[in-house]
Amino acid sequence: MTKVLYPGSFDPLHNGHIDIIEVAAKHFDEVVVATVRNPQKTGGLFELEEREAMIQESVAHLGNVTVTNFASLTVDLAKELGCDFIVKGLRVVADFESELMMARMNRAVAGIDTLFIPAGAANSFLASNLLREIARFGGDVSSMVPQAVAKRLAERYGS
Ligand code: ADP
Repeated sequence: MTKVLYPGSFDPLHNGHIDIIEVAAKHFDEVVVATVRNPQKTGGLFELEEREAMIQESVAHLGNVTVTNFASLTVDLAKELGCDFIVKGLRVVADFESELMMARMNRAVAGIDTLFIPAGAANSFLASNLLREIARFGGDVSSMVPQAVAKRLAERYGS
């Protein structure tokens, strides 16, 4: 049985993330999606509990996906949960550069390998920071996020 961990800030979750989760759920026995409790990223939109709830709703159709949160090192969470690999999505070359460093570091500190899943062509321009910015100024991003996220964005910004 192979279990993988998909970590991220998911602020907010978008269709690119869902794509990666669905591919991982197809190839692995269990997928744990973990939202980071204290992201170092500034300009956050949703609280951890809201992000987690939106992910739960959005992956409800996938029987082998669970959702959690963490405030520790990703590799510590992976070990604690008994995950075999960390899974990451890659959009563009810039993602690869930073993810490669992180993957090598995680292997060096904990012996955990990272598997990369390429973003689908239709989703490769999606990034949470861009969606946050558009939503804050009233832009419509409802076609780029799961329904659960679109609903909360509409409640907050009326978009
Ligand atoms: P973002 O970069 O959108 O702020 P996160 O930090 O939450 O997102 O990203 C979590 C993981 O999802 C990372 O591995 C990231 O590369 C991946 N990811 C982000 N956006 C996409 C996308 N559009 N398609 C595929 N993977 C993505």
